[in-house]
Amino acid sequence: MTPITACGAAKLLSAIFDEDEGEVKRYLGLPVLPPPYRCLDCGKRIHNKIGRCQSCFSRSKRLDVACSWCGQFRKRLASEIIRRVSQDGYEHFFCDQKCVGQWHRKHDWGMIWQAHLQTAYGARQLSQLLGIPRATISHILAKMRETERVAIGARMR
Ligand SMILES: [Zn+2]
Ligand SMILES: [Zn+2]
Repeated sequence: MTPITACGAAKLLSAIFDEDEGEVKRYLGLPVLPPPYRCLDCGKRIHNKIGRCQSCFSRSKRLDVACSWCGQFRKRLASEIIRRVSQDGYEHFFCDQKCVGQWHRKHDWGMIWQAHLQTAYGARQLSQLLGIPRATISHILAKMRETERVAIGARMR
């Protein structure tokens, strides 16, 4: 019978138990070269101690992104930015739900008001045009008129 070396045994055991050869070697207390580090994100084998493979490492970087509502900069994962812009076609980032809400309200109101000014449509026609409930549009137009009056009043003073 041919003698089996320790390393040969590790190879054999790894085949029998369908285990990573490095894992078996470590279990047997044998030197493992190169160390079987694995990427924290994708599990790919890597030969460094950064914790991530090259592509995951660059994705794990954080970038400063401004909030679309208040303009404050926040650190965001590069992977999150890539995912949201490429998959969801999303171009806006916010601090939290409060900023999202305020931006949405302002954004939609401004859009509805602009449509009103450009088309001179009333709430009923705008409702059909934009597919937004008539009551919502009536409310927004009324509020916007109020705001406009206040603004004009302030200018005249
Ligand atoms: Zn990876
Ligand atoms: Zn914000």
